[in-house]
Formats: sequence, C-alpha cells, structure tokens
Amino acid sequence: MTELLFRDDGYLRSCSARVIEADAWGIRLDRTGFYPMGGGQPGDTGVPLLASGRATTIGDTVKGAATDEVVHVSAPGAVLPEPGTELVGEIDWERRYRLMRMHTCLHLLCSVVPGAVTGGQVADGRGRLDFDVPGSSLDKEAIASRLNALIAEAHPVGPRWITDAELAAQPDLVRTMSVKPPSGTGRVRLMEIAGIDLQPCGGTHVRNTAEIGPVAVTKIENKGRQNRRVILAFAE
Ligand SMILES: [Zn+2]
Repeated sequence: MTELLFRDDGYLRSCSARVIEADAWGIRLDRTGFYPMGGGQPGDTGVPLLASGRATTIGDTVKGAATDEVVHVSAPGAVLPEPGTELVGEIDWERRYRLMRMHTCLHLLCSVVPGAVTGGQVADGRGRLDFDVPGSSLDKEAIASRLNALIAEAHPVGPRWITDAELAAQPDLVRTMSVKPPSGTGRVRLMEIAGIDLQPCGGTHVRNTAEIGPVAVTKIENKGRQNRRVILAFAE
C-alpha cells in the first residue's frame, strides 16, 4: 500500500520515498505524489532521483492490483533501484499542471452543458466530455464564452468528504456514468466549485478556476443519436 500524497496536495511536485519493490512492470514506493491513470486523467511522468545520481525515467503511472497500490512504470530494460533505496520522486510538473488545469475545466464544462456525462478524457493541452444530449442544440461559441466567464470569475475549487451512505442517498451527485466514484473505504471525496459543480472525483485539480486560463471549444462531434462529444483546448 502506498501513501497517496497527491490526494491531499495536488501541488506536490516532488517527495522523498522508499522503494518497496521494483520489477519489470515498475517501481512501488511507500509514498508518492505521482498520480496513477484513472478517472479520465493520465498518469504522471517524471524522474525518481537516487542518492547515487542515477535516475530511471518514469513514463507512466498506473494503479496496481491492490487498493491504493501505485506502479511507477519505468522504461523497458531500465536499471531498477533495490528495495529499501531512498529516492526523491520528481513529477514532470509542467505536464501535470496542464492536466490539472484541463481536468478542472472539464468540471466547469459539466455545469455548462445539460445532460448526463457518458465519457471523458483529459490529455496534455486538451480534453473532452461526451454528453447524452439529443439533437444538435449545442453551440460551440456559447459554451466557450460561458466557460471563459466561469474561469475569469476565479471560483475556488476544493475537496469535501462525505460518507458512502451519504453518497448513496444522493445519486444525483454522480455526473459521470462511465466513471464510478471510488467507494468501499467508507468515505468519498467530492470536488466542489461552490454553486457550480459538485461531484465525486479522485483526480487532481487547481485551487482556483482562474488558473485554468482561456480555453476554446475546438469541436463538437456527433457520436451517435444522443451522444455529443465536446472537445476543449487551451486558447493560449
Ligand atoms: Zn475532478
């Protein structure tokens, strides 16, 4: 089991940790700030720095088989650190920050477009959500202008924890049907943009919508009778 430092601090760029295990799949640490792929957000990349000066590039981070297990995926053939080795895990922060900004922007998009979310994906510099919306009522420019207004209004973004029972009593909180909220641990983390969006989410977010910066709706695709894909990109 890995202590998941990104859960409480999405702005943690590096942290010291000890190697629990390292094999052909990757490196497991006792604690990490690296976000493992999930909930539509890609896994972090970066470099664990060893005292010897040696480093193994981490090209991806994924969830392991056990609860809260995180695997830092190293390149094939990489020289792996021995269990017990102390290292400093450095996240590729510029990429991660772009992912956090776009991820948070997708929460705003949820509030702007009516209809259930049927899928979504954050990528570096762009993101998309699929909505169950009949017809072709969605307008690119109107969505972009509403999003950019919410971004410029500088709304705080923060976590709020509730119990599994409280979530079960409020199924409306789950906007993304394709992404099941993490449950079974007794409590669920909601991300709240007060008055705009509130939903269970295990990803990493910026603290204020102003950090997202200007965005554009690059495309609205028709992915089936009731499925509209809204694609966003950073405008700068
Ligand atoms: Zn989120």
